[in-house]
Amino acid sequence: MILHIDADAFFASVEQSYNPLLRGKSVVVCGRPIAKGIVTAASYEAKKFGIKAGMPIFEAKKLLPGAIYIPVDIPKYLDFSTKLLKIYLQYTKILEPYSIDEVFLDLTGQYPDSDPEKLARAIKAQVKAELGVTVSVGIGPNKLIAKIASEYQKPDGLFLVNPKEVLTFLAAQPVESCPGIGPKTTQALKTLNVRTFADLIAIPEGKLRLMFGVNGFKLYLAARGIDDSPVIALDQLPLEKSMGHETTFPNWISSQEQIEGILWELSSKVAFRLRERKLLAQGVRIKIKAKSHGSTKQTYDKRFSGPTADDGEIAYLAVHLFLMHWNRKAVKGIGVTAFALVSMESVGEQMHLFPPDSVKGELIPAIDSIKQKYGAGIITRGTNLLASRANGKRGKTIGPGSNANRNLRLLIQ
Ligand SMILES: [Mg+2]
Repeated sequence: MILHIDADAFFASVEQSYNPLLRGKSVVVCGRPIAKGIVTAASYEAKKFGIKAGMPIFEAKKLLPGAIYIPVDIPKYLDFSTKLLKIYLQYTKILEPYSIDEVFLDLTGQYPDSDPEKLARAIKAQVKAELGVTVSVGIGPNKLIAKIASEYQKPDGLFLVNPKEVLTFLAAQPVESCPGIGPKTTQALKTLNVRTFADLIAIPEGKLRLMFGVNGFKLYLAARGIDDSPVIALDQLPLEKSMGHETTFPNWISSQEQIEGILWELSSKVAFRLRERKLLAQGVRIKIKAKSHGSTKQTYDKRFSGPTADDGEIAYLAVHLFLMHWNRKAVKGIGVTAFALVSMESVGEQMHLFPPDSVKGELIPAIDSIKQKYGAGIITRGTNLLASRANGKRGKTIGPGSNANRNLRLLIQ
């Protein structure tokens, strides 16, 4: 029992959800700059006039000069996408995001007594009530069928294909509705007079293999509604296992104040990268490059009580580890690594990370957007200024932000 859920006119719907004045209106979301861009999404009201994604904006304006043209705002849509995922996660943990607004859910065996359509209606109703947008749901025995079924009754659709009905359902569908079939393959299939799945099933396997290689066999299977690819749950997705920054000083440093400042700077960089990739760390490892106990490098690690991507929490743990293990002798370099990373979605924590009433709730996103715009070194905490003093002439830092000292520094703490 696989569900494919696809939000309708996603970018435009998000804009309408945030701004009630846009509801019921022709909204066109545009790539930047608007004067030269293309349409990235159109509300259903605008679609009625023939406006669709990929169309140059000047053409859209000819069709519908009175529409509301808004620039695309990806961070807003990503945030909304996370809200959708949080709703879906209430129904199953076996959930695979397929794009910013599409997801596969595997409900096999999880609701033995439930009617799948009833469940789908419940999900749709919850999304509508909580987020004010509509989604289309396709239900089928595998991902291929579910995906084609969700497209079948868009927008606000719900369509179930029982295992016995797969071939009848597919027969009339155009081949380009099959995921993975692009314009090139569609064109090549047209030369064989193949337009629908019914046409495709008539082509022998050997001929498809000859024309399309390995993909030919996939087409052969797709024509028969066969797809055994699993829904890969979020926490099974391959993730970067750790993420770190380290630095080697031009001179030996023995000032605790300076080293703490550098630990803060490195921790901030690590935390920023974690947030950029929507990851949380479950632990911190520090590396001390020093001559002690016969060894030149030493690493120490410790886990958090819960996963985090907060500058302060990472820095405090890094400093704590350092002070616990430092032998008070001069240090040649230092590193901070976040490890045991998990995606924010998989823990469903991101909403609580920075409570809206806290200073961090506004401060950290504001800092991140400044960093995204001007580079990671543009802004730093007061604590880190100690580090920049120590680092004025130091060796290279691994990773972004090594231009820090060339940029304007803003005192924020
Ligand atoms: Mg969509």
